[in-house]
Amino acid sequence: MTEKPSGKAGINASSARSGNQNRRNTLMPSNHSYKLSWLGLMALAVLLVLANSPRTSLLSCAQAADSLDPDLAAFSSLAPIDAHIHVYQDDPRFGTLMQRLNLRGLNICVIDDRDPFYKGLEPQRGDALKVRQLTGGRAVFCTTFSPYGFEEPGFAERTIRQLDADFAAGAIAVKIYKVMGMEMKSKAGKYVMPDDPAFEPVYRDIAAHNRTVVAHIAEPDSCWKAPDSSSPDYRYYQQHPQEYAYAHPEWPSKAAILAARDHFVAENPKLRVVGAHLGSMETDVNQIAQRFDRYPNFAVDTAARVPYFMMQPRDKVRAFLIKYQDRVLYGTDLEVQPGSNTEAALKEWNDTYRRDWVFFSSDRAVEYLGRTYHGLSLPAPVLRKIFHDNAVHWLPGIVARQ
Ligand SMILES: [Zn+2]
Repeated sequence: MTEKPSGKAGINASSARSGNQNRRNTLMPSNHSYKLSWLGLMALAVLLVLANSPRTSLLSCAQAADSLDPDLAAFSSLAPIDAHIHVYQDDPRFGTLMQRLNLRGLNICVIDDRDPFYKGLEPQRGDALKVRQLTGGRAVFCTTFSPYGFEEPGFAERTIRQLDADFAAGAIAVKIYKVMGMEMKSKAGKYVMPDDPAFEPVYRDIAAHNRTVVAHIAEPDSCWKAPDSSSPDYRYYQQHPQEYAYAHPEWPSKAAILAARDHFVAENPKLRVVGAHLGSMETDVNQIAQRFDRYPNFAVDTAARVPYFMMQPRDKVRAFLIKYQDRVLYGTDLEVQPGSNTEAALKEWNDTYRRDWVFFSSDRAVEYLGRTYHGLSLPAPVLRKIFHDNAVHWLPGIVARQ
């Protein structure tokens, strides 16, 4: 999609899969354990009684969890929250998958006038509300607003009215997007930045309603660099030359855009801001740490940027995630547009969650773009924060609204 260089291209979860396979092999019972002992028969009898009791639903939940491989079972045991998804296809199979993984997600709308599907808030908004319903409230609505009319009279009032209606309809967050800084110009011909005074009343309204801003501002460094086939984003900019800053030297520098992002975060200390895609500081965790030290109202999600963690020194990334364990939200950027192949999407979800879980939770090998990386083996309390608690804190309503 146009929204981001996804970084998903080329993800190879096969090593994670073979890792599971190995693990399962070691857990396979040897022949003699098939002989049923007297105790085993008693246990079977108890299970049969339970299966016929009103607690059957509990039993079938346990059976569903049992059918997951060990990695996805461990992932699902944390009641994981994916802080960054785009699901606009109302297929009940997404609800089934989310229930099976005990998963919740922030389902994000985007407005980008360069892409026919993302041109307006509708039909995304209607689709996101349908998906919320069919997932039993697990896919929670994140709205957005069109920034393009920022110079028109009444822009702030109109935008606030729309957002307040979306909040009343259950939206828990508001996305702002990279068209600020990289596409939109004022009538005077200046690039419009996310800290433009026109947006200030809107940010204040979001804070007053205790909602969160999800800020996809700027792009990976590679967007400003010459084509490099070893970059995770190479294919994306080949396919989306209109978003490739290297081909547009007249665009603002990445540093200028991030400075404007930092400025609006600083100006709105009561507003929670989650920087999508590692806050576009994907190549060096020290840059993220600097912002965390300066701005207590700032966190980041990992959407489509987990490979950038892999590519940095393992000990540095591990130390960063332990030190800032309250500030990083797990997210993927998984996207399903209407008419997409549901089977392929479901497989991609399973593969991505499995690969990311192996990377964060174990020291096993994960392959990415033909290279092998070792997982971070983060402590269990840190995993619980990254995969669940931080989303609850930074995105109030992600769990409560059902
Ligand atoms: Zn996204």
